[in-house]
Amino acid sequence: MINEMRENEAKKIHLTGLNDEELSIFVAEIGEPKYRAKQIFKGLHERRLQNLDEITDLPKAFREKLAKTATASTLKVESRYVSTDGTRRFLMKTHDNYPVETVFIPTENRDTICFSSQSGCPLKCDFCLTAKLGLLRNLTAGEIVEQIIIVLNDVYGASAETPHGMIRRTTVPSHPR
Ligand code: SF4
Repeated sequence: MINEMRENEAKKIHLTGLNDEELSIFVAEIGEPKYRAKQIFKGLHERRLQNLDEITDLPKAFREKLAKTATASTLKVESRYVSTDGTRRFLMKTHDNYPVETVFIPTENRDTICFSSQSGCPLKCDFCLTAKLGLLRNLTAGEIVEQIIIVLNDVYGASAETPHGMIRRTTVPSHPR
């Protein structure tokens, strides 16, 4: 039953991974006016909402329609470890059960989020546990953006303004296969 639900979720469009132009095309395809794309984009990226039903400037009927074909959240946080220096390590799982690691590192002058572009890693650094997994699969744009949204909401609170000067980088470089 759970696997069936996961498969159904997997068929939905992950709106978090669409840019504003792609969102405009999406809303046009489902017969909605263009300004809906702006409302969705703002809800997902400025307010960092992860539940489409929370984008309350959209009519309820449209939110219900949207939820049938699209989603704003596909990652599940499996564990979260906070070090004494404030570093937060997250292990997430994709809808198809692949591990995703994301780390928040606070320092005096800036905060850094290290996010993953791939599940696992093709490199074989001796000291690294991720190396033992090998490369499992590339993450989608939505899965990459969602890691940042999850961490920002965890650290600063949902809907709080994103601080300026945040440095973002990937934990794992992209490698041609
Ligand atoms: S590149 Fe990074 S994630 Fe990949 S094996 Fe080396 S230390 Fe681990």
